[in-house]
Amino acid sequence: MQCKGCYKKEEQGYCLKCRKKLFEKLRVQPVLSFPAPVASNLNNYKEHTKLLSISGVQLKYSLFLREKELALTNTDGHFILKPIPPVAHLKHVESVPENEHLTMQIASQVFGIRTAENAIVYFPDGTPAYITKRFDLRPEGGKYQQEDFAQLTNRSNESHGEYFKYDGTYEEMGQLIKKYVAAAMPALETFFNLVVFNYIFSNSDAHLKNFSLMRLDSGEYTLTPAYDLMCTQIHTVNESDTALDLYQGWMESPYYSQYGYYGRVDFEELAKRLSLQEMRYKRIIEMFNQKQDLVLQMIESSFLKEELKLMYKNHFLERLSRIQ
Ligand SMILES: [Zn+2]
Repeated sequence: MQCKGCYKKEEQGYCLKCRKKLFEKLRVQPVLSFPAPVASNLNNYKEHTKLLSISGVQLKYSLFLREKELALTNTDGHFILKPIPPVAHLKHVESVPENEHLTMQIASQVFGIRTAENAIVYFPDGTPAYITKRFDLRPEGGKYQQEDFAQLTNRSNESHGEYFKYDGTYEEMGQLIKKYVAAAMPALETFFNLVVFNYIFSNSDAHLKNFSLMRLDSGEYTLTPAYDLMCTQIHTVNESDTALDLYQGWMESPYYSQYGYYGRVDFEELAKRLSLQEMRYKRIIEMFNQKQDLVLQMIESSFLKEELKLMYKNHFLERLSRIQ
């Protein structure tokens, strides 16, 4: 058996380290005590809606820890529960929770990216769901003020139309980090690392709302932990490689013009525009090549079925070849 949080070998459930991170050390069981959402609850849910992305179809429920059990709640939830999206047109839809879990674990365990804490849970019928712990709650109660990059740039459905989340560049987001975050340089490196990560792991849904700044008690802004990371290409077809363009003028990139996708030089161009030091950004890009074996091992130990492990690996290796 493996820990349902970090994949380490464990008798059952979650290892102590994961229980500390997620459940105040309590021995929470990985099987929930309430049933999976059923179709009758979700009348006509999004089935006929034009779909751009996975984020638009994922239902989220709020959970809190009641003694040693996770229970649904309307208020004061400490966890977000994301079951299998109730839609038929996503490919391999039943593996969405395990895909998100794996991608988040790779980000945190292999690449040291600060992520929202997360794990896999199961409904009594055995179907998996993804849970993640909220990071916007203050220990003493109440919430930290948090704004995503659509809010920071005043983009909304009303002002920029229904695709507002995809309207912008990562370069522009970096300029906002420079403007708002006091310790801008480490935040820009973290942000750049995450943009490269999303590319390498075929997350085409890293749009403006999937990055946020949080206001600390000191009044300073900081990047929130990463969330909603997933290899979306497994579930969708003909999606563009990135949710946003890398930088203004990307169409003139000689590499892009030749190959039809971004390569290492394009990420280096983005890093330069974010004023990152050459040694630092080269090291970040190089890390993706160096950690190849660790990534492959983690995919292997994940809860994805064999067929999807192979797909996940192939997507990863194909993207990796683009930044060599
Ligand atoms: Zn664990």
